[in-house]
Amino acid sequence: MDAALESRTRELAEALWRVEPASWRRPPLALSRRLLGGLDGRPALRSAVFRFVDVAPACRGPRDRGAHLRAFVREVEGERLPLSLRPLRARSAPRLPRLPLAAYGLVSGPATALLARQFIAGRNVTDATGNLRRMWRRGQAFAVDLLGEATVTEAEAEAYFERCTETLRRLAEVTRDWPDQPLLDADTHGPLQRANLSIKLTALTPLLRPLAPERGAADAARRLRPLLRLARDLGAHLHLDMEDYDSRETLLLAFEEVLADEEFRAGPSVGVVVQAYLRDAAETLERILASPALGDREVPATIRLVKGAYWDHERVIAAQRGWAAPVWGHKRDSDACFERLSHVLIDARDRVRPAIATHNLRSLAQAIAYLERGGGRPEELELQVLRGLGDEIADGLSRLGHRVRVYTPIGDLVAGMAYLVRRLLENSSNQGFLLQQRHHSLDDLLEPPG
Ligand SMILES: Cc1cc2nc3c(=O)[nH]c(=O)nc-3n(C[C@H](O)[C@H](O)[C@H](O)COP(=O)(O)OP(=O)(O)OC[C@H]3O[C@@H](n4cnc5c(N)ncnc54)[C@H](O)[C@@H]3O)c2cc1C
Repeated sequence: MDAALESRTRELAEALWRVEPASWRRPPLALSRRLLGGLDGRPALRSAVFRFVDVAPACRGPRDRGAHLRAFVREVEGERLPLSLRPLRARSAPRLPRLPLAAYGLVSGPATALLARQFIAGRNVTDATGNLRRMWRRGQAFAVDLLGEATVTEAEAEAYFERCTETLRRLAEVTRDWPDQPLLDADTHGPLQRANLSIKLTALTPLLRPLAPERGAADAARRLRPLLRLARDLGAHLHLDMEDYDSRETLLLAFEEVLADEEFRAGPSVGVVVQAYLRDAAETLERILASPALGDREVPATIRLVKGAYWDHERVIAAQRGWAAPVWGHKRDSDACFERLSHVLIDARDRVRPAIATHNLRSLAQAIAYLERGGGRPEELELQVLRGLGDEIADGLSRLGHRVRVYTPIGDLVAGMAYLVRRLLENSSNQGFLLQQRHHSLDDLLEPPG
């Protein structure tokens, strides 16, 4: 173990831990934390509430919403319910009169919307501009994500493409006159784009087939090229999010092929993602860094390092197919891989822009400590968090002088529910750092992963 690095990691994590929590300044954040806190240690209730959250926007009015909530809550067995939900479980009682059921529907509608608003900044750029501008004033940049899940038809792919072009144009327009923020506007490589859009390759093509990645990549490239041209002309950044393991090869092939075109050598600013929960994550990072189209661009690519959002999905799919899971089996292995790869990425900062995306205090602090030890300055490393999960960390990091980018979903509530449920699950999964933070000492949380 590297004692000096450990000691600096601890110092930095303690400094971040001590930075005043911001939730008191944001009442909706405090309230939704309370709502989620009520699910701690109640896995069956948690699952019932998340299933409810998923269907709530599609319900026809308060009574229908109340009836759905009652149906899900009645399936919860062997757990004490909060007082407010107990009447919903009383099976033997005569049917609940109309009013209480509708009242549950009336209260749960705004509660779901409140949760959603914590994670989703608005229906579209116009609706979200106030939130984005407030973040900028606080010294935080954004990466907008357009909500919507995998595309299965050509028409859906086309509609997603149109939303991307419209969003890029509007983002470039609304950010143009924002006040200068030197740490957010440039780094050691040069200017950073304010308009920053993260997109899903699986939404750009209905032809994604894991066994024929070239086919999906060629089809996605038809829509990727005009998006890249538009981003270049507007001075915007385009980032390809990483999704499940089945789509990874298609995504990398599409990006490598398109970005090898001469017309994209000098721009736009682009980015990809590496998921440390994959056993072969080191090879993927190596491939990206060695690729002339990605690892050595005139405008350096941003490489966002994450742990990965599809852990349960990958385990289930691999078990169904009778294959070994592509993801690590223990959380500490993903954490350890994340630390190793953050070092590789930071060492490559003369060619690429490293972005460390995590809410885990230890993972964050050790990356900053490693940068410092190599003589790096704060502007050489970007730290990224998700809106709704990392707001307090973002406030702390920006107050300590780091460049922070907040991944900010925008879109319609119905389309956003799958995203919201995934984030809620992450926030209350037993192994997740954010939950552990409520129950463990800082010493435990800062234990090296292995
Ligand atoms: C700005 C930003 C952008 C993101 N973009 C993407 C993206 O493009 N693609 C994507 O997949 N994810 C993305 N994520 C989500 C990310 O992958 C994580 O799911 C999320 O950040 C939680 O990880 P953590 O390091 O913050 O927290 P931690 O609590 O430290 O880690 C939780 C993570 O550990 C891993 N894990 C949990 N249990 C186990 C286990 N038993 N064994 C092994 N590993 C386990 C999982 O990856 C889980 O998400 C993004 C996150 C951020 C902050």
